[in-house]
Amino acid sequence: MQPLLQTVGISKSYPSGETIIRAVSGVSLLINHGEFVAIRGRSGSGKSTLLNLLGLLERPDSGEYSLQGQAVAELSEDKRAALRRQAIGFIFQLPVLLPRATALENVELPLIYAGVPRSKRRRRAKDALDRVGLANRGHHWPSQLSGGEQQRVVIARAIVNDPVLILADEPTGALDSRTSDEILSLFEGLHRDGRTIIMVTHATNVADRAQCQITLHDGRILKVEGTSAQNSLADFPE
Ligand code: ADP
Ligand code: MG
Repeated sequence: MQPLLQTVGISKSYPSGETIIRAVSGVSLLINHGEFVAIRGRSGSGKSTLLNLLGLLERPDSGEYSLQGQAVAELSEDKRAALRRQAIGFIFQLPVLLPRATALENVELPLIYAGVPRSKRRRRAKDALDRVGLANRGHHWPSQLSGGEQQRVVIARAIVNDPVLILADEPTGALDSRTSDEILSLFEGLHRDGRTIIMVTHATNVADRAQCQITLHDGRILKVEGTSAQNSLADFPE
C-alpha cells in the first residue's frame, strides 16, 4: 500500500532582518495510514512549520511532498484548498469556535463547506460529538463549555469529515494535566479506530503517548523513536 504521505528534503525559510531562518531544513519522512506520530522538539525547532507544510497551510521552498500519492506542488491553489478541507482535520493549541454557534453547529461547519445535505449533517455532527463524549452538550454555546470540552468540540469538528489525516499542534498545551490526559486518551482511541494522527508537542510525556516520536532540532530530524521505524528516511543533505 502506498504511504499516506511522504516528503523528500522539504525546506522552508523565513526572512528575519538581514538573514533568513531555516525553520524546516531538508526533512524527509514517510507516514503510513493508521500511524500515531508525535513531532517533538524545543520551542523554535520548526515543529509548527513542519506541521503547516504537511497540512498544506504553507508551501515548501524546496523538496517534494506527496499526499495520497499526489504531488502537492502540482496542484492549483483551489485544488490545494479543496484537498486540505477534504483530507485534513486540524486541531490547534487554543480551541477556536464560532462563539454564536452551538457546539453542534460548530461541528457541522466542515460539512456545510463540503456540501453535505442538512439532514445528514446533523446526524454526522451528532455522531462526532458522541465520539468525543459530548453527546449531551450539542446545544451549549462555546462559552458554556470548559476549555477541555471546547477542545473536544474542536476534535469532533476535525473528525466529522472523516479526514485521512488529523494534525494537532500542541493540542494539550493550554490544558491542566488531568484534562490533557483525557484529550490524549481520546487521541489514543481515534488511533485505535484506525485514524492517522500527527501531533506536535514540546512535552516528552505527551509525545510518549504516540506510537512513534520524531525529534526536530533546528528544523532537522534529530532522531526517530518508537514502534514505527520507517518514518524517517535519511535526513537529507542540503
Ligand atoms: P516550533 O513550533 O517548534 O516552536 P516554529 O516552526 O514555530 O517552531 O518556528 C521555527 C522557526 O521559524 C523559529 O525561529 C520561528 O521564529 C521561525 N518562524 C516560524 N514561522 C515564521 C514566520 N511566519 N515568519 C518568520 N519566522 C517564522
Ligand atoms: Mg509551535
